[in-house]
Amino acid sequence: MSERNVPIAERRYAAPVPEVPERPLPPTGLIADRRGRRLHDLRISITDRCNFRCTYCMPKSVFGKDYAFLPHASLLSFEEIVRLTRLFVAHGVEKVRLTGGEPLVRRDVERLVGMLAAIRLPDGTPLDLTLTTNGSLLARKARSLRDAGLQRVTVSLDALDDAVFRTMNDVDFPVADVLAGIEAAAAAGLRPVKVNMVVKRGVNDHEIVPMARHFRASGHILRFIEFMDVGASNGWRMDDVVPSAEVAGRIGAVFPIEPLEANYDGEVAERWHYLDGAGEIGLISSVTRPFCGGCTRVRLSTEGRLYTCLFASEGKDLRALLRGGYDDMQIAAAIGAIWAARDDRYSELRSADTAGLRRIEMSYIGG
Ligand code: SAM
Ligand code: SF4
Ligand code: SF4
Repeated sequence: MSERNVPIAERRYAAPVPEVPERPLPPTGLIADRRGRRLHDLRISITDRCNFRCTYCMPKSVFGKDYAFLPHASLLSFEEIVRLTRLFVAHGVEKVRLTGGEPLVRRDVERLVGMLAAIRLPDGTPLDLTLTTNGSLLARKARSLRDAGLQRVTVSLDALDDAVFRTMNDVDFPVADVLAGIEAAAAAGLRPVKVNMVVKRGVNDHEIVPMARHFRASGHILRFIEFMDVGASNGWRMDDVVPSAEVAGRIGAVFPIEPLEANYDGEVAERWHYLDGAGEIGLISSVTRPFCGGCTRVRLSTEGRLYTCLFASEGKDLRALLRGGYDDMQIAAAIGAIWAARDDRYSELRSADTAGLRRIEMSYIGG
């Protein structure tokens, strides 16, 4: 592992404070980056902590008992998150996803959901507000999240086989409790539930067909995600990636499927449906079929650093502006300037040249 690639808490690096243009212009919602991509999705990591230690995300060897998570004072407060979200909405964001770490371990997450649900887009409609979770606390919280204004959830589940799942989450968490969380979410109206399975060769690829069988005709949408080289601690190798084409082939051999049209331009998951009418699946091919050309996402870390790419090695410190007395117009102008300067397309460039770049852990930047 090169020195630049040593896993280390991102906060040990001072993040650059974004420039505030001298004469801020009001945000128009029409901003485009240097590749003509507009700003549409905001992912907010609300905690760097998690009750799982998935081996591909927060391996115990790095995130052990002595790992120093962020102190509470470093985290953006709910008020700060909402203030920034309003500014992003003024720049065109319509969709917000809460993530982490495990977002449901952040205390009072329902209060934050309620505050975000009250935000209106310029045309008066509510934000598309969703959350990605490991599902462990969902059976308990689905109803209160729905009542607070959450619209949908995505639940990560990598295997149906209990032994495989317990090994992958590495905290011996049973699969039955996640399945109960998924059902509770659907029953509470957080529908359709999307279920994300990260596929790692030799670890859980034998679970592809059982997962497809289980979620067919359930009303939930199962999505298969290629294992990515995000962060620096998961020991990623191309050999571990199961290409989506292979996933489609394995499922199609048992349950015939065919591709569907995308719902909208820039949709990340390729949609396929079962020919017998048992619903659809998604394939997310970040490694073998990168989708940078339509990438309209920006990520806000737990402590308020803004990343214009999942693989960016540096974020811009918006918290410094929030806590430095800048007004909304100035902070909005700084955000606009960051997006306008964006040129990221890491997945399209992925090669030996990018292998040594310093990469931020998924649990910090928000998946
Ligand atoms: N804790 C929540 C969860 O697991 O759903 C939210 C945060 S997690 C970082 C977000 C998503 O990133 C999960 O679906 C997880 O499986 C996925 N993920 C984490 N590391 C990954 C990797 N190396 N490659 C692909 N997906 C990854
Ligand atoms: Fe936690 Fe989600 Fe990462 Fe698993 S993938 S360790 S549940 S943050
Ligand atoms: Fe977007 Fe970066 Fe992923 Fe490309 S690599 S799709 S620019 S987040």
